[in-house]
Amino acid sequence: MTNTLPTAVSSPPFDDSKHDKGHLETLHAYKAMLDASIDCINILTPDGRVVNMNQSGCSALGVDPHSGFGMEWLLLLPEEIRKAGKKALQKARSGENAQFLGKSISEWGETTFWDNLLTPVLDEQGTVESILCVSRNVTQQCSAETKLRHLSEFDELTNIPNRRHFQSYLKKALRIAKATDQSVTLLHADLDHFKLLNDTRGSYFGDHVLKVVAKRLIKKLSGLGYVARLSSDEFAIIIPQTISTEEITQVAQNIISTVAKPINHNGQSVRLSMSIGTATWPYSVDNSDMLTKAANVALSDIKQNGCGGVLQYHSQLMKSVTRIAEQLELAQYAIDHHKIEPYYQPKVRLGDGQLVGLEALLRFTTSTGELAFPGAICAAFENRALVEKIGEQMRTRVFKDIQAWTEKGLKLVPVSLNASPGEFMWDDYAEKCLAQIKHYGIDPRLIEIEITEHMIVGHGAEFVIRAIKELRAQGISIALDDFGTGYSTLSNIKDYSVDVIKVDRSFVSSLHQGREGKAIIKALLLLANCLGMDVVAEGVEEQEQCDTLIDEGYVIGQGFLFSPAVSMTQIEKLLESEMTSE
Ligand code: C2E
Ligand code: CA
Ligand code: CA
Repeated sequence: MTNTLPTAVSSPPFDDSKHDKGHLETLHAYKAMLDASIDCINILTPDGRVVNMNQSGCSALGVDPHSGFGMEWLLLLPEEIRKAGKKALQKARSGENAQFLGKSISEWGETTFWDNLLTPVLDEQGTVESILCVSRNVTQQCSAETKLRHLSEFDELTNIPNRRHFQSYLKKALRIAKATDQSVTLLHADLDHFKLLNDTRGSYFGDHVLKVVAKRLIKKLSGLGYVARLSSDEFAIIIPQTISTEEITQVAQNIISTVAKPINHNGQSVRLSMSIGTATWPYSVDNSDMLTKAANVALSDIKQNGCGGVLQYHSQLMKSVTRIAEQLELAQYAIDHHKIEPYYQPKVRLGDGQLVGLEALLRFTTSTGELAFPGAICAAFENRALVEKIGEQMRTRVFKDIQAWTEKGLKLVPVSLNASPGEFMWDDYAEKCLAQIKHYGIDPRLIEIEITEHMIVGHGAEFVIRAIKELRAQGISIALDDFGTGYSTLSNIKDYSVDVIKVDRSFVSSLHQGREGKAIIKALLLLANCLGMDVVAEGVEEQEQCDTLIDEGYVIGQGFLFSPAVSMTQIEKLLESEMTSE
């Protein structure tokens, strides 16, 4: 069997026993042909000994071409691929083609990748007589593939793993944790107000910030966890071993403080806060598929309740998320199908019930035709995109109604509209509102905007205050809604520039609680009078409350005692009757 050179998978091309001149020439021709090939070509015995090897094979595997061969092929391979080689050899020995990827590292450290193809050569009886092993250098192809993989799995800007890499890493981490009885903690981190930074300082600055943040995260977590960038300003950290809840909080706090250090670029400096939601499998979620969602839910919750800080996921959060998602969906339906309409609640003079104003309150019809209240979609008021559309549709309907009443010659009273903080986030509330008022030809003095106290002291207050100034300058009045439940102190309320205070209905309903309830009502009126503001008592439900309010000097009230909010047509009738009763 010594020099049997195989062709494909049939019988050998020539027989070694016939050493005549012709055969020797053919043998040399074959050898020359094989040596000319850049592929490494080996002929192996079925039990894996080298029978012949071409020039390329000898130099790749460091074999002397004059050695006479006979050595074990597997022992020539680098140790780490011998297992794959053995498997392929067994397969070829059983008569099947086999393939595996090999790797060799030269003395000077250069790595070469080989695609090894083992083809069994059968004799006339169909027995495997020898095995042809062709190894092709696929280093270029492999490095192109590696490059491609890097490009598709690493973030170009920060050069850390991207979402795709994160997903496969998390899967692997969970698989290992399940097998080794460990836990996996996921931290979903998000920079606060990054969009604002990008908009105000430019995207070069924003890019620089992201690079610095990625570097700081990698440094802080080295040896402890894995870091990936999921999207613009979102990062994920995976800790693939069991750590306590206290340690998780500590890790998150460390991340927050490292990110909070000033970031400088081109003479500008910024300090950023970060919000982090965390979840751990199997403690906070028993289903590993839910881990990403749970950390995200915790993050959204912390973002919603003001930014910055850490929150570990607990099952109660998911319930509130489901409720929020349902509310958002309902709101989206109402917006898309133009199902939103204003109902109007009268504001009256307490003494004689005379109509002095209207408050427009949102109502909408559901897909089953039921009339629904704002409480059914309150999460939408916290959602910037939705609340903007809701506000827009409400204003359009209200202004159209006023326009219609004007055209009918009805005696108009001021109409107030409620505004939510999210509507001021693009800093164009006043402009949009004024443009609409102009479009419908409405006297600005007929419009009042109700805002709440926390809107002028909380996050984003500067936009609200600017809008208030602009609106007031055009004759629109501003009311401070639910007054007394917020943050106001006597000293700062005068800076708010509001025209009306609406005393929250909780104070009106506490009137029956003897002297204490009355004292608050009295104090609120005194405060408003000192500041030169009008006062409206909200939620007047009983005649007794009305009488007490009158006694205390209140003039205007609103509540179920007089009327709930009613439809446009009902209000129209009321306005008509007001005219005839004059
Ligand atoms: P709000 O601005 O304080 O509105 C008064 C709420 O109290 C209304 O509830 C009204 O129906 C209710 N109410 C009026 N009189 C009485 C009474 O005598 N007793 C009791 N128990 N309740 C009374 P509604 O319409 O369900 O609105 C709830 C909240 O939803 C509003 O509170 C307001 O914050 C918000 N909202 C309503 N419409 C809009 C809107 O168009 N835009 C925005 N951003 N928020 C709105
Ligand atoms: Ca209101
Ligand atoms: Ca109110």
